[in-house]
Formats: sequence, C-alpha cells, structure tokens
Amino acid sequence: MIDRAHGYYQREKEKMSKKKREAYLKEKLSEILRYGYRHSKAIRSRFDAMGIKPERVKDLKDLEKLPITKKTDLVTFQKQTPPFGGFEVIPKKGLRRIYISPGPVFEPGEWDYKDTRWAQALYACGMRKGDLVLNTFNYHLTPLAFMFDESLKMLGVSVVPIGPGNLSMQIQLIRQLHVTGYLGTPSFLMSLIEAAEGMSLDLKKDLFLKTAFVGAEMFPESLRQKLEGKLEIFIRQAYGTVDVGCLGYECQKKNGMHIPENVIVEIVDTETGKQLEIGATGEIVATTFSKVFPMIRFATGDLSYLIKDPCPCGRTSMRLGKILGRTDQVTKVWGIFIHPWQVDEVMAKFPAVANYQIVVTRKDYRDQMTIYIELKEEVVDRIGLKRSVEKEMEEALKVKGQVEFVQIGGIPDRAKKIDDRRIWE
Ligand SMILES: [Zn+2]
Repeated sequence: MIDRAHGYYQREKEKMSKKKREAYLKEKLSEILRYGYRHSKAIRSRFDAMGIKPERVKDLKDLEKLPITKKTDLVTFQKQTPPFGGFEVIPKKGLRRIYISPGPVFEPGEWDYKDTRWAQALYACGMRKGDLVLNTFNYHLTPLAFMFDESLKMLGVSVVPIGPGNLSMQIQLIRQLHVTGYLGTPSFLMSLIEAAEGMSLDLKKDLFLKTAFVGAEMFPESLRQKLEGKLEIFIRQAYGTVDVGCLGYECQKKNGMHIPENVIVEIVDTETGKQLEIGATGEIVATTFSKVFPMIRFATGDLSYLIKDPCPCGRTSMRLGKILGRTDQVTKVWGIFIHPWQVDEVMAKFPAVANYQIVVTRKDYRDQMTIYIELKEEVVDRIGLKRSVEKEMEEALKVKGQVEFVQIGGIPDRAKKIDDRRIWE
C-alpha cells in the first residue's frame, strides 16, 4: 500500500468496491486464522477449547463462533506464559523492541514495522512528504509513539521525537525548526496553546502549524472548535489502542472515523459477543492481521457504532461513529444506556455549571435520576436554568431527570459522574 522508498502513498485500496472489500477481508481473515493457529500457542488453545478449526471460519459473520479476548485475558495469559502469553508467533530474540503497556501487558515490537493503518490516518489528517512533525506521544516503554514514528517515515514526513513535557522547549522548537504538524493528545495541544498565549505569541503568525493529529483521549467537539479556532487549522483524530493499532481515522470531511483496510472491526453485544446491526451501539472488537502479535476478536472496552453511508471524501470503508464511552462506565436507566460522555456534552452548553453529578436511585420499582449541579456563581434565574438543563438532558439521554442545586464544594472532586445507588433485591 505504501512505497516507502519514495514516501509515496497509494490510495487504491481505500476506494475498493463493497464486493472487493468483502473478498479482500475474507482472504486476509482466513490467512491470519490459519497462520495464528499454526504459530501461536494461545490462539491454537482457544480454537481447540471451542472445538473449532480455522477453516470453519469462512467469513466475517463466522467470527462470532470464536471467543472474545479481553485485556484481562491477555494479562492472565502473560502471567501464565511470560512474556507474551503465547500470542506471539516469533521467538523473543527475533524482535526489535519489547514494549510494556499498562496492565501490565508485554508487546513484541517487530524488526520491520509494516502496519500501514496509522500512516493512512496521518495522511488523511493532511500530513505529507516534506512536512516536519512534533511527536509528543511518550517514547518511554509503550509502543504508540514508535508506531507513529514509523508511520511518518512511510509517508516521508520528518519527525522531532520530543515526547510530552517541557512546554517552553516545545514552543521554542516549533518556532526554530518551523514545525508544520502536531501529533499528540488533545489536552497536551491545549496546554501548548495556553503556554504560547502566556508567552504573548500570535498563534497564527508566530507558530507554523498546518495540521494537528490527536488521539489517545476523548476529543469532544467543543474542544475541537476551540483549538481549531485558535490555530485556524484542521484538527483530526483517530481511534485505536496499543494492542490492536489503528481502528478508525477521520478524513478532511470529519464524518466519523474510517476503518482502515488491514483490520476487521466488529461492533458486538458485550454480553453475548454477537455482532450488532449497523448503527447499533456496542463494544468495539478488532481482529488484526499482524504477523508478529495477531489479535483475534480483541475487545477494546470502548463503545461505538458503525456508519455505512458513503463519505464524500471517496473512501469506501465503513466508519466508526463517536466513541461513546467505556463498557464499564455505562449505566442503564429506564432500560436506556447513559454514558458520562453524553452528560458532559449537555453540561458544556451551560457555562454557569461548575460541577455536576448524576445519582440514580430506585423507588417503588422505578428508576429515579437526579442531576446535582454546583454553580460557579449564583445565577439570576435558577428555575429557568433548572428547566433548560432538564430539557436538554431529556433530549440527549431520552430519560427524564430532576435537577437539584447544591452549594459550592457540595460535589466531591473525585465523585463518579454517574453514581448508581440502586439496590437490587
Ligand atoms: Zn471520508
């Protein structure tokens, strides 16, 4: 897909027809299943435990026959069979690096990085040969910064491997070297901007940024607007994890996140592992085609949904919608899932709100939702504010709740955003 010698990026696969894409993924799937079964002890034992041979998984729907692997499974397997839990397919001495991610999870780093998915994401964000990018992801122990570093190389983009921290030095380097692109978390970009403003710099004239690519954190639309407005550039995000790499990236049209070609993404019911229909919210599960550390049906713990309408950018892949939160943060009220993320979006519309907490209780077998709000300062029309918040919350969540105001400091700093106090007996 990418001709490294020239930093030239070939995009034909991004525009495959539906039929061609299905055939391509089917072939890649059967190849990786057979390969994984032959070379990885952990994958083989999981197939054998289910009494299934790789040949029986013929298409994407058949994946449902295979078990989901959770991060905790990976940790357990690795404790039993260190360091990689038997998921690896090549011996330790053939590796370039060994990464350690929170968990802890050990990950083998291949000698020659071939995964093109992050490069696709960086290209879609606008990074091109000849650009110079500040990589503020952490180069210490975890693979993410290295994955981006290698992917920039595929595109012919130069990199300043700075990692996070030391804001004034970062700004000095952007100015001295005429850095054109930013790579990092949205919150670190915000810190950089605030530091530059603190130095009385003109963000448009004194910095030379043309593109910014963010990831590894939630990126609310309100924050995007703020950052894009200040810098007058496009900021695009991608979604992925260190275990399974890039699973989605935004194009210039900002229409959800295109699923890259070399991965299979399913949206599944967390309880049953069955695939959900297009548009339904469920857990993101990925199957990668890595020949070093293949992951078959790896559950990310993140919630999203699929979009299949065509994107005006011309890419034909399905897209992931917004990341709606973590599977373990969700609360069901009146049978409807409520995510902290949705509540954050509503509260962002009310500048007077300093802090909030939703408490779910149960009375006479009926769920009750109370929205406790702490104000920044007293407002003239409390009743009006109460009604507006209740209305916006109901529209966003499809569940009715009561707003109650509490005094400043009434909600502890570390309180859960959604506190489920229902007792089931
Ligand atoms: Zn697009």
